[in-house]
Amino acid sequence: MKSLPFFCRGEVIRGFGRGSKELGIPTANFPDSVVDNLPADISTGIYYGWACVGNGDLHKMVMSIGWNPYYKNTKKSMETHVIHTFKEDFYGEILSVVMVGYIRPERSYDSLEALIAAINNDIEEAKVNLELPEHLKLREDNFFTSASTSSPATASTSQTIINDCLRLRPRVH
Ligand code: ADP
Ligand code: MG
Repeated sequence: MKSLPFFCRGEVIRGFGRGSKELGIPTANFPDSVVDNLPADISTGIYYGWACVGNGDLHKMVMSIGWNPYYKNTKKSMETHVIHTFKEDFYGEILSVVMVGYIRPERSYDSLEALIAAINNDIEEAKVNLELPEHLKLREDNFFTSASTSSPATASTSQTIINDCLRLRPRVH
């Protein structure tokens, strides 16, 4: 996929209570404004990369891009599981991510156990792959450093950020 690595950020909105948290794998949902800005070559499936919430630390993540049942599968959704244990939910915060690699297409599973096992495999694959030097390098991209040094977003600036899925090239080091 030539659009990878792909950088974007947006507000964390409420999902549809599909119980991800109950499975132990909460997924932070992006609004349609972010999903609609995905390049055409980013297909549905599972991705891995880096993520930070607000101006917090950078963590590894896995992301599912899929068809949203709430919209009768006519609209894509982007859901990020940050590989970190947070003390609290972060609805309304700005989530910044870079998708760096593709793991697998979407598929359905015969049981909840099989689904959870598949997601845990994805998480393990993400953890290993992100240790590659080319992926570690992305942590220093000014996409993240500027997110962490900027002053708290005002209503008007956060609106700009939310509606703007930024597509930047990583800096060459
Ligand atoms: P929803 O249907 O609202 O997306 P989930 O059960 O998927 O509900 O939970 C997602 C929410 O959980 C996120 O929006 C975020 O506020 C919170 N959360 C807590 N820890 C994490 C994490 N490690 N990764 C993603 N979201 C998390
Ligand atoms: Mg969710």
